[in-house]
Amino acid sequence: MPETYDVAVVGAGVVALAVAEELLARGLTVAVIGPYGGDHAGQATRAAGAMLSMFSEIEPGHPGDRVSVETGERLAAHRAYPAWLSRLAATGERVVSTVAGTWVLAPAGRLAQLAPITAAARAAGHPAEEHDAGQIPGLHTPVDTAGALWLPTEARIDSGLLMEALSRVIRRHPRAVWHDTTATGVATGVVRCADGARVEAGDVVLAAGVATASLLDEAGRPVGVPPILAGRGASVLLHAPAVSVPHVVRTPNAAFACGAHLVPRADGTVYLGATNRLTTSVDLTHPATLDELAVLAADASTLLDHRLAGAQVRGHRVGLRPYTVDHLPLLGRTRDPRLLLATATYRCGVLLAPRIAALIADEITAPGTLDDHPYRVLRPMPTPAASAALDNDAAQALIEHLVQGGANLPTAAAEQFSEFVELALQVLLDDACEQGAALRRLWRSAPVVEVVPALFALPRRMKGTPDVR
Ligand SMILES: Cc1cc2nc3c(=O)[nH]c(=O)nc-3n(C[C@H](O)[C@H](O)[C@H](O)COP(=O)(O)OP(=O)(O)OC[C@H]3O[C@@H](n4cnc5c(N)ncnc54)[C@H](O)[C@@H]3O)c2cc1C
Repeated sequence: MPETYDVAVVGAGVVALAVAEELLARGLTVAVIGPYGGDHAGQATRAAGAMLSMFSEIEPGHPGDRVSVETGERLAAHRAYPAWLSRLAATGERVVSTVAGTWVLAPAGRLAQLAPITAAARAAGHPAEEHDAGQIPGLHTPVDTAGALWLPTEARIDSGLLMEALSRVIRRHPRAVWHDTTATGVATGVVRCADGARVEAGDVVLAAGVATASLLDEAGRPVGVPPILAGRGASVLLHAPAVSVPHVVRTPNAAFACGAHLVPRADGTVYLGATNRLTTSVDLTHPATLDELAVLAADASTLLDHRLAGAQVRGHRVGLRPYTVDHLPLLGRTRDPRLLLATATYRCGVLLAPRIAALIADEITAPGTLDDHPYRVLRPMPTPAASAALDNDAAQALIEHLVQGGANLPTAAAEQFSEFVELALQVLLDDACEQGAALRRLWRSAPVVEVVPALFALPRRMKGTPDVR
C-alpha cells in the first residue's frame, strides 16, 4: 500500500462513501478518514428516509431555473442508481435494491402544491397520476385530504442497508485504507487525524457534511468555501402493524420541512420523518427533543393516518442536513486546486450520491470538468435582501411551523397573521429599525427563508427564556 494516496476522502456519510467507491472503481488508491463504527450521531444519511425524490421536493415558490437544474441532476442520479447498485452487488455484497412508487397526498387546502410536482414529472416524461386520497393502499387518510398524486417512478432505498454495503465494499478493497477516526484539519494534500495519523494525497475531497468547513482555516473562506448551513432533522422508526403501506407516502414540503412521510422498511418497520430546523450551533450529539418527536407524531396522525398515534416507537435519529444559501450542492475544486468539496446536498443527498460520486471522479481524473457546473464551489453565492426572501410564502410557512403539533388557526386569522408577520419582518429587518439589530445579524448569518422560525424565536431567547421549538 502506498503511503500517499491518489485521493483522501474525509467523511463517512453517503456522499463520502459514494465518492470513495467510485474512485476505487476507476482504479485510484483512496484513503477514507471518518468514523466507521459507533452510533453515527448527527449523521444526516442514517437519519434519512432515503426517498429518492426526483420531483416531490418541488415547491410552488421555487424559481424555474432552480427547478430545472435540480430536476436535471436528480434525474441523472435516478439513471445512475441501477448500475451503481449492481456494481455493489457484484462485489458479493448483499443486494440493496430501490423500491419504486411514491404517493404525494395534499392535506386540506393544499391541493395547489401538487401542481408543480405533476408538471415537473410530466415534463421529464415520467408519469404523474392524480387520484382520490382514499385510493392510497394501506392508509386511512383524513376525510378532508384534498387529493393525491401517484409517482410510480419515484423510489426509495433503505439508507442503513446501503451504508452497510458501501462501508464493507470500501473496507475490503485492496486499494483502500479506512482511518477509523476524525480529521482535525486539512491543508493542501494533507489530512491531519485525531489519532495522530497524517494522510497525504494528490487530492483531498472534503465530504464531512455540516462539519466540512470547520476543518479548514477560517472556515474555508480563503479558499472560496461559502457558508454551509445546518438543517436539523429528526425521524422515528415505528412498528405500526395497523398501517401497512407498501410505498412511500408523503405530504408536499411545508413549514420549512420536507412534509410528513412514511417510508416502509424491508424489516417490517416504517420510517416516519422529518423535521427541518435551521441550527446555528452545530452539535452532532444533541439528541431529539420531545417537541421534535411531538411534531412528528402529530403530523403523522393528523395528516397521514390517525391510526399512527398507536404505533410503537422502535428508535429515533437526528441528522444535520448541509446546505447553502442558494440551496444547491457544493461540488468540485476550491481555490486550492488540490482541495475539493462534495457536500451541501440538503434534502436529497441519498438520491444524489451516485451522481455526485461520478461528477467528483470526473473532475479528479479530468480536471476542469466541473468548471461550468451549476454546483461548482466557486460559483457566485447570492446575498439575498431580506425583503426578497421573506415574502408571503415565508409568513405562511411560519404559521405552518407554529401550528405543527396539531393546532389550527381559522383561515381569516391565518391570512391576517401571515400579512402582519410579513410586514413586521420587513420593518424589523430594515436597517433603519434600531430594535431589529439582532434580527438583522441573525439574518446575515443565515440569509435563507428557513431562518424565519429562529427570527421569530429570537426576542424571547434574548430575554434568556429557553427555546421551546
Ligand atoms: C431527517 C432527514 C431526512 C432526510 N431524508 C432524505 C431523503 O428522504 N432522501 C434523500 O435523498 N436525502 C434525505 N436527507 C438528506 C440526506 O440525508 C443528506 O443530504 C445526505 O445524507 C448528506 O450526506 P453527507 O455524506 O454529505 O453527510 P452526512 O450523512 O451528515 O455525513 C457526514 C459524515 O461526516 C463525518 N464527519 C464529521 N466530522 C468529521 C471529521 N472531522 N472527520 C471525518 N469525518 C467527519 C460524520 O461522522 C458523518 O459520518 C435527509 C436528511 C435528514 C437529516
